[in-house]
Amino acid sequence: MTLPQPALDALQAAFGEHLLVDEPLSRHSSARIGGPADAFLVAKTVDELRAAARIAWEHAVPITVLGSGSNVLISDVGVRGLVIHNRAEQVTFEGVCVTAEAGLGTISLARQCADHTLSGFEWAVGIPGTVGGAVYGNAGAHGGDMSNVIDTVKLITPDGDITMSNAGMAFQYRSSILKRECRPCLIAGMTMCLAAGAPASIEARMTELSERRRRNQPPGATLGSMFKNPPGDHAGRLIEAAGLKGRRIGGAQISEKHANFFLNIDYASAGDVKALVELTQEEVWQQCGVELALEVELMGEW
Ligand SMILES: Cc1cc2nc3c(=O)[nH]c(=O)nc-3n(C[C@H](O)[C@H](O)[C@H](O)COP(=O)(O)OP(=O)(O)OC[C@H]3O[C@@H](n4cnc5c(N)ncnc54)[C@H](O)[C@@H]3O)c2cc1C
Repeated sequence: MTLPQPALDALQAAFGEHLLVDEPLSRHSSARIGGPADAFLVAKTVDELRAAARIAWEHAVPITVLGSGSNVLISDVGVRGLVIHNRAEQVTFEGVCVTAEAGLGTISLARQCADHTLSGFEWAVGIPGTVGGAVYGNAGAHGGDMSNVIDTVKLITPDGDITMSNAGMAFQYRSSILKRECRPCLIAGMTMCLAAGAPASIEARMTELSERRRRNQPPGATLGSMFKNPPGDHAGRLIEAAGLKGRRIGGAQISEKHANFFLNIDYASAGDVKALVELTQEEVWQQCGVELALEVELMGEW
């Protein structure tokens, strides 16, 4: 526990028993991996998110926002400073546009868009995690991604709230300016505009995509795709070609079903997963001459 006492006092005064000390982050990641956060808070509203961030900034405490922890490998020694688990999840529909807070689940948003007969977000139906995580990493699947639908993004910054345009977010493949530049800011929410669609075709597309996922992806504790697809190829194909399907280090295993998915099959540590990542990068480089870049982000102290 390394949070300075004045910062801890201020957070405790504002959030009382909701502020947790040394909370194991394995409880908050999809792979069930991760050491403790010095201080941990669940923010249920944007006001709480902003208030926690202000206190942390005032006391120069580093902030880490966690959505569903479905795209991060959290280190075994955990995360220093304040971790805010964002659960602010209000959503409003106006015509073909929808404004969602960043703690809303992406799958829930996809389903709500379908309920409002809005088309253009069906591809998101199987993507775990929150809207904030999806915006931050420009999540995408089946030919769609966040950059195709976002109009504006609302950010909480040390200088106040600001609205970023789609262009300002400088989205790239599984990346945004926030991810590349590590700016001190939190995503409060976003507005995206879709198109009016036919309910039956929206539902059919979502069912088809969900079934495709069930067929191709392994169930269980995982972080999704471990590596980005290199241009013109698939990380999964390369890992399989290198003979690594099913390879195991400690409690971590490369899925037999989809080689770009790494599973926590038996109390894997972050160290187990990292060792498997490094082995995979080395083998794919030696055998295929391709450098695999991580899609999953390393979070915390490494
Ligand atoms: C089974 C499975 C399948 C998946 N399939 C896909 C897929 O098809 N396509 C795809 O793109 N991804 C996929 N993923 C990865 C993951 O679901 C997405 O990247 C998702 O958008 C991450 O959201 P999250 O809330 O879990 O983010 P987290 O993992 O919690 O965080 C990711 C990053 O975003 C930052 N962040 C999160 N919220 C905020 C916020 N409010 N403000 C500032 N920063 C924030 C975090 O600090 C962190 O740096 C899959 C994952 C799994 C487990």
